[in-house]
Amino acid sequence: MIRLDALLCDCEHPTAPPSGTPTVEWELANETLLGDRGPLSPAERRAVVDQLADFGVETLRLSGSADLDAAAVDELVSRADDRGLETTLRPGGQRLDHARLESLSDAGLHRISVRVEGLSTPLQKHAAADDIDAALETLRAADDTELATELRFPLHADSVTHMEEIYDLAALLSADRFRLTHVPEPELDGERRRRAVQRIADLTRDAHERNNHIETVLSGGIDAGYVTEYARDNLDGECATDVREALRERLGAAPSPPVAKLGPAGRVYPGTFWDRYALGTVRDRPFGAIWTDDSNPLLERLRHEEAGLPDRCRSCQFGDVCSGGSRGRALTAHDDPFEPDPVCYVHEEPAVGGSAAESPAD
Ligand code: SF4
Repeated sequence: MIRLDALLCDCEHPTAPPSGTPTVEWELANETLLGDRGPLSPAERRAVVDQLADFGVETLRLSGSADLDAAAVDELVSRADDRGLETTLRPGGQRLDHARLESLSDAGLHRISVRVEGLSTPLQKHAAADDIDAALETLRAADDTELATELRFPLHADSVTHMEEIYDLAALLSADRFRLTHVPEPELDGERRRRAVQRIADLTRDAHERNNHIETVLSGGIDAGYVTEYARDNLDGECATDVREALRERLGAAPSPPVAKLGPAGRVYPGTFWDRYALGTVRDRPFGAIWTDDSNPLLERLRHEEAGLPDRCRSCQFGDVCSGGSRGRALTAHDDPFEPDPVCYVHEEPAVGGSAAESPAD
């Protein structure tokens, strides 16, 4: 992820911890990933937390918790906290009240992260409007708890114009962090993505000047190229150079791949958007053994993808700061993880002085 506020306002970027282990996204319920397998039992889930901790994983994101009872979620969070993992809960469309959030906080939860897809309007289908209302009410209820909070806004063609109001809403509800994410969507062209990221960069600097220090985060590394352009065009020379250097360091410190996804039956995938080509299952061997298995051809290619990167990335001028985008998004859009990331929006100019750095996928 890219800490936009730190980069553009302080000209620095906190680098990833030296452990080099991935962030783990654990989907506790997901019919597609589950298939005809049985979900992990409570004892298996506890064992998985121990596996992650033994491997040195530091950051855990939980989703799909609505399908578990509250005590089971608290037990999982508590185990993760005991083992030193910093845990974020993404409650989906679930509405969590103040008492429930206090209970999660007491169990050791670090952050609650809600997704807001757009402004809730009478024209929206009920389910979407209900999810947005639930997200905002959860955020409001978290305000006087110990929990850190995050509002995630995925860019969609029909809600990209809501971004500014939602950013303001995040600040109004005292969210600690606003996170902009990219999902594959053919209707949203590169120019509109570019304008949206430019606008969020402007808003971030404005907020900082007004002493409103909401953390602004861009998911993954796909925006790194444009952020260097923005810094070059809007910041003084030394800071623009520092931004590029900080993004280069960020990429160098990132584990490869940076995110591991864990399905409800214990299967391990090499990133957020993956729902096939599991690397293995924690029912057969520990997470660390799966993640470090050099004999796995998919992992091998993802980690040494100078050859596996699309041509566009190999000759890209931003190869030193961008991870070549998301192989998972490429898989979703093209049925092939080694095709170009469909949301890349940089203007194509050849690299100056060499090819893209060897870089991890999102
Ligand atoms: S072309 Fe590839 S390396 Fe360049 S910005 Fe796009 S995804 Fe990143």
